[in-house]
Amino acid sequence: MPPSNYITGLGEPFLETAPEECSMTVKIDENEVFRIIEDKRPRVVLVNAPGGLLRQTKELMEKVKERYGVTVIMSGDSCFGVCDTIDDDVEKLQADLALHIGHNAAIREVGNYTYLIDAVDDVEFGEVVETAVKGLAPYKRIGLATFSQHLHQLGPVKEKLEAKGFHVVVGRRNNLMLEGQVFGCDFSAPFPTRSEVDAFVFLGESEFHAVGLALSMGKPTFMLDPYTNEVTDMQAAANERKKRAILAVYKARDARVFGVITGLKEGQKMLGRSNWITKRLEMNGKKVVRLAMRDITTERLAPHREIEAFVQTACPRISVDGFTFDRPVLSIPQADALVALIEGRDPGEFLERAKWIELTVGLIKQ
Ligand code: SF4
Repeated sequence: MPPSNYITGLGEPFLETAPEECSMTVKIDENEVFRIIEDKRPRVVLVNAPGGLLRQTKELMEKVKERYGVTVIMSGDSCFGVCDTIDDDVEKLQADLALHIGHNAAIREVGNYTYLIDAVDDVEFGEVVETAVKGLAPYKRIGLATFSQHLHQLGPVKEKLEAKGFHVVVGRRNNLMLEGQVFGCDFSAPFPTRSEVDAFVFLGESEFHAVGLALSMGKPTFMLDPYTNEVTDMQAAANERKKRAILAVYKARDARVFGVITGLKEGQKMLGRSNWITKRLEMNGKKVVRLAMRDITTERLAPHREIEAFVQTACPRISVDGFTFDRPVLSIPQADALVALIEGRDPGEFLERAKWIELTVGLIKQ
């Protein structure tokens, strides 16, 4: 039995960075912002940041305005992840550069104008690691992972767990992800270490990332929340998401008319994947309507009444966490499972893969 402050969590909003209530301790790398402004001497700067960091971003932009006399324009569009860069908007708004806040990555620049600005959370994990040790005892080999704001805590937590006798593995950095880092759709740093670990430990208060890690790895996964000092076994939440994902695939199998949606966000342009899925559906006798949109919501899909099921090649979490759709809305891994199913093959564990989408942000300038 896990200790009493182990909890079993279900459901959390769609979020790629620290939630609002935790953002008090998150600090944006303002020295990097000042360095860029002094180096590039822009007249107009375009900025975007996730909801949880809007207050700090606005405060920092006030400083930029006062110090350098720069005009700052904040994007009011949704900003959930590193896929939400606004490089294309720089020219439209006659700006000189863009700052994308809070999605730390192995790349520093995107496109022609955009700089990624890190944000880091000061909160410590010492206490919650102590809490976790007893429940983790059955697992000798631990894989450590976290999201952007807690990456600097991987080293100290690794040392603490090793001092308690665990063997700890942290996934290596690659062309987009930093060491031990996960996004909600990209688990490519920890994925190659799966066979070397018995369980994964996710550092942070984001069930969104922790449940993704659990689904992708197919291993026991525990979330260590430094704010509440709670340790959550992600199994129940992962099972729930997986069940819904499978159900949606089986419901879609019977559909005759499909909508295949290509995302218009800069980091999610998966036209090749949309083309491939369309071709396979049509080869198997399905009718396909092609659509393109930035934000895929129940309201945006509602007018397309003739469509019985959707496949979207934008953010996979819209499908995996989207509980409000009235028809199946499949992500890329689910679409692969659907194609396998209608062609008489075993879909297998289709969520257990390193990436649920190949973020195009990693293919742009590095
Ligand atoms: S596509 Fe990936 S990076 Fe973008 S919002 Fe979705 S999970 Fe986050």
